[in-house]
Amino acid sequence: MTPRPHAYAAVPDSTWSDWRWQQQQRVTTLQALERVLRLTEDERAAIEATADRFRMAVTPYYLSLVHPEDPACPIRRQAIPSLAELRRSPGERDDPLAEEAHSPVPGLTHRYPDRALLYATHNCAMYCRFCTRKRKVSDPTSALARSERDQALDHIRRTPAIREVIISGGDPLSLSTERLAELLDALAAIPHVEIARLGTRNLVTLPQRVDAELADMLRAHQTRHLAVWVMTHFNHPTECTEEAWTACERLAGSGAPIQNQMVLLRGINDATETVIALNRRLLRMRVKPYYILQADMAEGIGHFRTPLTAGVALLRGLRGHVSGLAVPQLVLDLPGGGGKVPLVPRYLEREHAEGWDFANYRGEPFRYVEPGRVASLDAEGD
Ligand code: SF4
Repeated sequence: MTPRPHAYAAVPDSTWSDWRWQQQQRVTTLQALERVLRLTEDERAAIEATADRFRMAVTPYYLSLVHPEDPACPIRRQAIPSLAELRRSPGERDDPLAEEAHSPVPGLTHRYPDRALLYATHNCAMYCRFCTRKRKVSDPTSALARSERDQALDHIRRTPAIREVIISGGDPLSLSTERLAELLDALAAIPHVEIARLGTRNLVTLPQRVDAELADMLRAHQTRHLAVWVMTHFNHPTECTEEAWTACERLAGSGAPIQNQMVLLRGINDATETVIALNRRLLRMRVKPYYILQADMAEGIGHFRTPLTAGVALLRGLRGHVSGLAVPQLVLDLPGGGGKVPLVPRYLEREHAEGWDFANYRGEPFRYVEPGRVASLDAEGD
C-alpha cells in the first residue's frame, strides 16, 4: 500500500481502502489542504483565486502521491491550483474542441460518423488542473438530468451509424455501479452499438473505486454483442502504484481491454525517459499506451502546454528504442472541432526513380525500392 501522509496516519487500512470514504474525504479547501501539505504563497493564493472558475478537489489517496514540500512535484502540479491558471493565452477557448457545436442533443457530442461521446456525469474524483472540459466539469449545476440522458440515448438509438459510444464526463466511475450498469444495459439494447468505451481517470486518482462489485458488473456486460473497453489517463510513473495495479488487474480480469491516453504536460511528462518509464510500467499492468495527447487550447492551461515539436521529438525517442507496444500515437485534437490528427517524426526523406529514401530511428539512411518501378526500368532497358 502507498505510504500515507502524516495527517492520515491514524486512518485504519480498511477505511483508507474504501472508495466511498476516499470520495467523501476529498480535500476541497485551503484549510484542509494545509493540514496535509506545506503550501507556497502562490498555491495558497491560487486556491482562493481559482475557486469560482474550476474548484479544487483531491482524494486523500492522490495526495499521498504528492511530494509534501516540492511545488514542482509532477503529481502536485496536476492537483493543486496555480496562479498561472488565471492567464489566458492567445487562441485559448472555453470549449476548445467545439464539443457544444457538435452536440445534437444535450449531453452528447457526435463529431465522427461512427462514434458518439456521452457525458454521463460532470463529477470526477479529482479535478485535474489541465482539464479540457473545465467549463462544465466540477460545476454541479451542469450535471446531466435523467431526461437529458434519455434524449442522448434516443439520438444514439435513431442513428444506426453510431457503432461506438464513449461514456465520459466528468468521470463515469463517479456514478454508482448500479447507474453505470443501467447505462450499459441501455446501450446493449441498441442493436447497432458494438463498443462502449468508459473514459475514466479513477484508476489514477481513486483506484479503490474498482472494487469486486464493479469488476463483476463489467464482466457481466462483456458480450459478443457489446464489448466494454476502458480508456484511462496515467500521466506519470509515480501514479502507477500497487493500488492502481490492483485496479487494472481487476478490470483486465473482467475482460476489458485497457488503453492509456497520456496528456503531454510541460515539466511533468515531457521527457523521453519519463514516458518510457511510464509506458513500460503500464504494459506490465496490462494497459496499452494508446495516445499521447497534445494539451488542448483550453483556457488557463498555457503553463502546461508544450510546443508541437517537443511531442514529435519525444516520439522520436520512443520508436525503435523501446518495444512497439510502448509507442503510442501522438495526436493533436484540432482546435475548433476539426478532430484528431496524428503527429509523426519524419522518417521518409525523399522519393527517387526506384522508390524512397528513409532515415531509420538512429538517423541512418536506407533505401526502399518499389518492385513495380524496378520492373518498368528493366523493361525500358531490354
Ligand atoms: S478526470 Fe478527466 S474530466 Fe475529470 S477533471 Fe480530470 S481530466 Fe477533467
